[in-house]
Amino acid sequence: MAVKVIIPAPLRPFAGKQASIDVSGRTVAEALDALTGRYEGLRRHLYADGGRLRSFVNVYVNEDDIRNLEKAQTPLQDGDTITIVPSIAGGRTVSGAPAEPATAASLSKNEILRYSRHLIMPEVGMDGQLKLKQARVLLIGSGGLGAPLALYLAAAGVGRLGLVDFDRVDFTNLQRQVLFGTPDVGQPKLEAARRRLSELNPEIQIDGYEVRLTSENALEILRPYDIVVDGTDNFPTRYLVNDASVILGKTNVYGSIFRFEGQVSVFGAPGGPCYRCLYPEPPPPGLVPSCAEGGVLGVLPGIIGSLQAMEVLKLILGSGDPLVGRLLLFDALGMKFREVKLRKNPDCPVCGARPTIAQLIDYYEFCGVRGEEAPEPAFTVPEVTPRELRERLNRGDAISLIDVREPHEYQICNLGGQLIPLGDLPRRVHEIDQAGDVIVHCRSGVRSAQAVDFLRKAGYRRVWNLKGGILAWSDEVDPSVPKY
Ligand code: ZN
Repeated sequence: MAVKVIIPAPLRPFAGKQASIDVSGRTVAEALDALTGRYEGLRRHLYADGGRLRSFVNVYVNEDDIRNLEKAQTPLQDGDTITIVPSIAGGRTVSGAPAEPATAASLSKNEILRYSRHLIMPEVGMDGQLKLKQARVLLIGSGGLGAPLALYLAAAGVGRLGLVDFDRVDFTNLQRQVLFGTPDVGQPKLEAARRRLSELNPEIQIDGYEVRLTSENALEILRPYDIVVDGTDNFPTRYLVNDASVILGKTNVYGSIFRFEGQVSVFGAPGGPCYRCLYPEPPPPGLVPSCAEGGVLGVLPGIIGSLQAMEVLKLILGSGDPLVGRLLLFDALGMKFREVKLRKNPDCPVCGARPTIAQLIDYYEFCGVRGEEAPEPAFTVPEVTPRELRERLNRGDAISLIDVREPHEYQICNLGGQLIPLGDLPRRVHEIDQAGDVIVHCRSGVRSAQAVDFLRKAGYRRVWNLKGGILAWSDEVDPSVPKY
């Protein structure tokens, strides 16, 4: 029977540097005899004294393990493939790396052509491409960072990509989330992402999880994957992803962006620090605005997400120096990269010697917020709805309308009120008539609620917040006012 024997990389030097060798034999034992007859150097690697297969060498016929020689007497069929899989100690292993050896997979003719620019690089080659094909990577979030991550990892041939996202594509996403197009607006991100990624590379498997990642589902969702990539935009999910990764022993490729700055690191690698070693506590709610509040320069998520994608490839390939114990800081305006050393904190509550967090906690409570939106102010203030404001203006009521946004926001759209940015309010409060009615607004109603609270403490009695801000005004009263 003519069969093919696949030779693993460590044994190729003893087999004429070939990846596979055609031999013939009626049984596995005969085929291996034929092989070692031709390549004498292989014999001592495969057999111990007495002719037994060595214990650290596994032999597969097609899908089946035939480690012991009784099974090696099983007859072969023409065209069978014998795969030799030795245990190997070298190389950087990825936590939770697939149990199946790379040699158990192969590339089709199409895949060989698709990945040819990888295959001709000695740093990747056939072995590396097979590792990519067998890799299982979970992306948390398919927004700004998730877009380049998903596109590049799919293109590079990562065999199984999981995506966790429950959002729909919003018009304001298109400025940076290059995974989506204008016709995708309003559609679930997962659906649009799956369509785009399978166009890009139909050879890979895409798993979608259209849920919010929570303490209840995180372990179950993360478990099947080798590497977790954090592309989230909020602190509760960051701590959740970190803790779940540490608990499960997964490597966590971290990236974050704000306006024109970004950070990248690799957490949870063996011996390396975790996110909590770097930031044991989250910032107080409201201190660090989200992208929706703070803005983000287009292209920046493309740069940071691409750096994360590169770290993922290196971890899978086991090559290069990943960002373990190093935090890479990028300043797009200065076009500067800096690097700081990170040390594992021996007292880290999750990855330290005596962890106090052995199971997932309530991360919204831990971070002091109740969701991903801007936190609600802790106080309540008197409000008017946009319709009430319109009626009062139509009646000709004397109202001081105060806009507490920033000047660059006022340029986008305004309701004709007096512009006093929230930060300037204490200094300019005397400009507001204390005797008359005052209605304060901002974009969504959060900053103006703080302003109303401030004014009431300053002695203003007849002061109201415009509920929902300019966004609600545009929805309920005047759609010609642009939303941003
Ligand atoms: Zn830690």
